[in-house]
Amino acid sequence: MPNNQSRRDFLQKMSGGLTLASLAGSGAFALKTSRLPIDTKKLGVALVGLGSYAKNQLAVALEKTTNCYLAGIVTGTPAKADEWSKKYNLDKKNIYNYQNFDEIAKNKNIDIVYVVLPNSMHKEFVVRAAKAGKHVMCEKPMSTSVKDAEDMIQACKDANVQLGIGYRMHFEPFTKEVIRQCREKVIGDVRFIQTNFGFTIGDPAQWRLKKAMAGGGPLMDVGIYCVQASRYVTGEEPLSVTAQYGPVTEPGIFKDVEQSVSWQLEFPGHTTVNGFSSYRSNIEQLYVSATKGWIQLGPAYGYGPIKGSTNAGPLNLPVVHHQTVMLEEICKSFLESGKFPEHITGPEGLKDMKILMSIYEAAATGKKISLV
Ligand code: NAD
Repeated sequence: MPNNQSRRDFLQKMSGGLTLASLAGSGAFALKTSRLPIDTKKLGVALVGLGSYAKNQLAVALEKTTNCYLAGIVTGTPAKADEWSKKYNLDKKNIYNYQNFDEIAKNKNIDIVYVVLPNSMHKEFVVRAAKAGKHVMCEKPMSTSVKDAEDMIQACKDANVQLGIGYRMHFEPFTKEVIRQCREKVIGDVRFIQTNFGFTIGDPAQWRLKKAMAGGGPLMDVGIYCVQASRYVTGEEPLSVTAQYGPVTEPGIFKDVEQSVSWQLEFPGHTTVNGFSSYRSNIEQLYVSATKGWIQLGPAYGYGPIKGSTNAGPLNLPVVHHQTVMLEEICKSFLESGKFPEHITGPEGLKDMKILMSIYEAAATGKKISLV
């Protein structure tokens, strides 16, 4: 690429559905190799919403990544704009608020907009980012309804931009090893998965306890990790779900969202999953039982260190900063192919949304809900 700008334009075109093979075949570009060279220019990321996750995890990651960096911010709080611009030496023209955010369309320094707002706000900002022609990363859960998730995918498709969900576990070494051993049947055929994720939630006034903003309770917030794990361990989509709400011991706090929920998923390859999520139990576990052995992670889903073992002994793997390896891998994929990794794209987020909503339906009705 002659310069960074033409490289950016090229990447924009690439992600518009063209593949390297089709470009090479059409003669549109004289590509000498089958891969794009990764040059020293980093992709510019703008974080939307500067709350706890953006500040304590994503911004920290963007200081360590080699192929992307914090180029801009979008915030509704002027004091945060000042604080962040000083701390990260941000160019004033790369700082937006929620009202003037759409002007980001003209900003060539921003390649990827990363939406880190409360769940109910994801759709609006993903759609606006897509309309501005920016590739988009969005935090989990992707949305608060299946319809919103579908609209988000459509908006990104219409704008020819990539849409990824911040599924950090996909890039975490212990999790990858569980996926490998299960998919390659190292421990035989997976028959049963026990998976739990819960924590004791603090401030009773926070958005996570408001259904309109969160879409639900612990299931939407952390139970989604268990649903994700069931899908990536088996490599399958569930056939059906049953579910039960747990008791409400603090009705003053859990008046709008569930305190806890349990669910059971059946998979076509004869795996049964038992899941549990709670805002009043400190638990995170993934246990997989298979015909020739077992593998487990615990802690399984938090920021780590993740620990794991199998029937053959402990797993000794690198402990990483999840958000750093996630962003590094996503941007590597994008720089090489013009696409985010398939397994964390919008349609994957939509599959989870459909299962989460079916868990709620099953818990509310007491019925077994078919997912096929
Ligand atoms: P947070 O409450 O700490 O931050 C939310 C941000 O949104 C704040 O900057 C707040 O000012 C802003 N905001 C704008 N409008 C708001 C409104 N009307 N009400 C409340 N806040 C408003 O939340 P968080 O923990 O940073 O979570 C943000 C997103 O990131 C959520 O979707 C959450 O699920 C996700 N998250 C993901 C992980 C992960 O490991 N992948 C971890 C934590 C959070």
